[in-house]
Amino acid sequence: MHFGEPTRILHVEDYFDVGLPEQAKEPRVRFRKKLSTAALKALRAVGGFTIAADSARRRNSLLILCYHGISLADEHRWLPSLYITPQQFRERLRFLHRSGASVLPLDEALARLRLGSLPPRSVVLTFDDGFVDYFEHALPALQEYNFPCTLYLTTHYCDYRLPIINLGLDYVLWKSRKSTVSLPKFGIPERLPLITFEQRQVLVKRLLEYARERGMNTVDKDELAREVADDIGVNYEAILNRRLLQIMTPEEVIETARAGIDIQLHTHRHRVPRELALFRREIEDNRRRIIELTGKTPLHFCYPSGEYYPEFFGWLDQCGVQSATTCDMAIAQRNSQAMQIPRMLDDSGMDLLRFESVVAGLFV
Ligand SMILES: [Zn+2]
Repeated sequence: MHFGEPTRILHVEDYFDVGLPEQAKEPRVRFRKKLSTAALKALRAVGGFTIAADSARRRNSLLILCYHGISLADEHRWLPSLYITPQQFRERLRFLHRSGASVLPLDEALARLRLGSLPPRSVVLTFDDGFVDYFEHALPALQEYNFPCTLYLTTHYCDYRLPIINLGLDYVLWKSRKSTVSLPKFGIPERLPLITFEQRQVLVKRLLEYARERGMNTVDKDELAREVADDIGVNYEAILNRRLLQIMTPEEVIETARAGIDIQLHTHRHRVPRELALFRREIEDNRRRIIELTGKTPLHFCYPSGEYYPEFFGWLDQCGVQSATTCDMAIAQRNSQAMQIPRMLDDSGMDLLRFESVVAGLFV
């Protein structure tokens, strides 16, 4: 998706460049190309999954699963690559539990990966961003199974009970169910299509540009989203009330940390400037806020939108960061670079059979 472009460096406090990993585009297609469902079933029936799961190759590798959101409403229909349903998430946890997977805390798993002392079928669960849906759906499910989990939290929006603007605008446009739209009040007089994500992004970028030119802050931008929603017949109040696309409040973060969830770095404003001073500020602001809320110093990082450049590795090291995960779809190996650790994105298009094959270490 088109958030992956190099981040524009803006000196605006509340700028939030939320994005979707490029790799989130078509993971299902990539899986499908590898093996059909029928072939997977046949392989499982002859014990192929078990052989792979118990192999030395799997034993020496670490599956880090990456999640973003668990639908509060219909978000999985809006962005299937980033949302799964609460039922699907519970189904995943149930499978991990009954299949004897070793679900480990990130810190321990990375150390044991290096040492070559991982237990069988090792898995780490990670969530990006820290949406309210994590608190509502993921946390109780994780507690039920007593599974550790790392949450990479972006902190700017913790202080606003508002949808993240980029996502909010896109959701509003999708929710209108219109095939084309013109928004003359907001500088878009021509009629533009909004069926696909890419088409909607053209509009979202134009609206954000409109906001930027007017020097809008986070609250102003939310008002803009509301006006756009009103203009195209979408109930913005319902989106706000259901707390869609909002980051957890400080109180919710505190409660999450108290419940034993490991809260780690994801930048304050969800962006990775390619200028050291600004990059460092993102890490430091994010770290300061996480320490305030959790009392613990975060040492692990996840690249927002999976976007990274080689110069970041040294910068992160200078910032005292010990590991960084990407959205590059792979299983981590003993020789994976500390600042370039791959993960597997789980999404609502992946059925349980395919998930089982991923946990077995097949096709990753
Ligand atoms: Zn993110």
